[in-house]
Amino acid sequence: MPAAKYIILFGPPASGKGTQAARLRELLNLPHVASGDLFRENLQGETKLGLEAKAYMDRGELVPDDITIAMVIDRLSRPDCADGALLDGFPRTIAQAVALDQALSAQGHRISQVLYVAVPDNVLVERVSGRRLCRTCGEAYHILFNQPKVPGVCDHDGGELYQRDDDQPETVRKRLQVYWEQTSPLIDYYRGQGVLVDIDGNQSIDAVTMDLEKAIAGT
Ligand code: AMP
Repeated sequence: MPAAKYIILFGPPASGKGTQAARLRELLNLPHVASGDLFRENLQGETKLGLEAKAYMDRGELVPDDITIAMVIDRLSRPDCADGALLDGFPRTIAQAVALDQALSAQGHRISQVLYVAVPDNVLVERVSGRRLCRTCGEAYHILFNQPKVPGVCDHDGGELYQRDDDQPETVRKRLQVYWEQTSPLIDYYRGQGVLVDIDGNQSIDAVTMDLEKAIAGT
């Protein structure tokens, strides 16, 4: 049996991780585990976890580590993740990365690759302001750079497109500040483990997908 593959798509908010994860689905054939999506599902379902996370998300802050780690490790323990997963948005702190390493090594696994999609801050702010998501499937669009065929409607399932509350300019600035303070130290953490691959995220969506595919094929 081939070794399980746990790959992390890493990068600042709106660096294109969700869009790229959807495109890599066929190639990787691994479940896409996005902590932000898990929180949003909990929010929509009005679960206790969702209500706890909401205030932090609205402010553009990180949800506390204990809540986040428990949620993601629980997701990874489901049978569909036995052969690996494509992680997106997790980990976002050193404590989360350490907890993930421990949980994987307890199962005899490790992180195979961390694909670091780098995009300059000014480009991120511009991207976020035009970002729209499908209410049904979560697919991401952009009003200028990645338009749906019919404005306001998802190409895949006809779902309504909406703008995330935390994509407002003020919250985006806060999320970027949080990224540089709390999340960017993970770049050195994973570089030190020899698993980090640098990807230029400031290119067309297709070009980024190509670079990611090349990086994954190189494992
Ligand atoms: P995202 O969709 O990845 O941009 O996440 C949306 C929001 O969910 C973030 O701004 C955080 O409030 C929360 N969140 C998502 N992932 C994490 C994480 N790994 N640690 C803490 N908070 C998170």
